[in-house]
Amino acid sequence: MKQVKKYIIFTDLDGTLLDHDTYSWDAAKTALKKIKDKQIPLIFNTSKTLDEIKNLQEKIGINGPFVAENGGVIAFKEDFAKDRKNIKKIGEHYCFFLGKEIHFILDALHDIRQRTGLKFKGFHDMDTKEIAKLCNFSEEEAKISAQRTCSEPLIWLDDEIKVGEFIHILTQYGLRLTKGGRFYHVMGDNDKGRAVRWLMHTYSQLFPMENFQSIGLGDGENDRRMLNTVDYAIVIPSFDKQIKVFPDNPNKSVAKFPGPKGWNQSLMEILKY
Ligand SMILES: [Mg+2]
Repeated sequence: MKQVKKYIIFTDLDGTLLDHDTYSWDAAKTALKKIKDKQIPLIFNTSKTLDEIKNLQEKIGINGPFVAENGGVIAFKEDFAKDRKNIKKIGEHYCFFLGKEIHFILDALHDIRQRTGLKFKGFHDMDTKEIAKLCNFSEEEAKISAQRTCSEPLIWLDDEIKVGEFIHILTQYGLRLTKGGRFYHVMGDNDKGRAVRWLMHTYSQLFPMENFQSIGLGDGENDRRMLNTVDYAIVIPSFDKQIKVFPDNPNKSVAKFPGPKGWNQSLMEILKY
């Protein structure tokens, strides 16, 4: 017989666990401690890059698998990679790719710009200083943030009305556009929800006796598929207190506060049981 349910938490970072402006997670410390005490897997599921997430994991004091670049790549340690096919080693990470590789995306964007004249600016069109300024990062942080393997963040410089045309053209290349807190992201047919499914499947294979239940937390449109995939969805209001994502998940709630304060409050509510 399967045991009592065991939670696995998937969380977005910017504007969710991290404050939109300061990137601080101070307001979430109580819940973070509880998660560590209860040994609940906490999986970052974000548009950030592999090394950005690894640095954050170290600062926050967690380890284990994580999802980078909007579900494009899942990274884990060797034990998790055992017997799995199509695993690539990048630095110290064992990686499984769900997304299209970056050179394909950049070629397509170059092509689209030539064909249509649509105006946009991606990370690869910017220098480190510019990325640092846009993200409120140090230059070192901006450098790590620019090391993309399967997605390109961009700012839209054309009429908002032409975004639809851009999306349509991207589909001709098998690419899609999603909107995060700060940037649009161009990527393959990957999303945070597919990454959740892959990891939940892997966890249940590795620990067949456990009855896993997933919780997801996010604040942006790029979190919608993750929030629809998990057993319990928690919508975090945006920094301006607006709700920016509307999942169809019947098991959903909205946090009372934006960012890490709302993250903390919602999880303390669930984990008290
Ligand atoms: Mg976010």
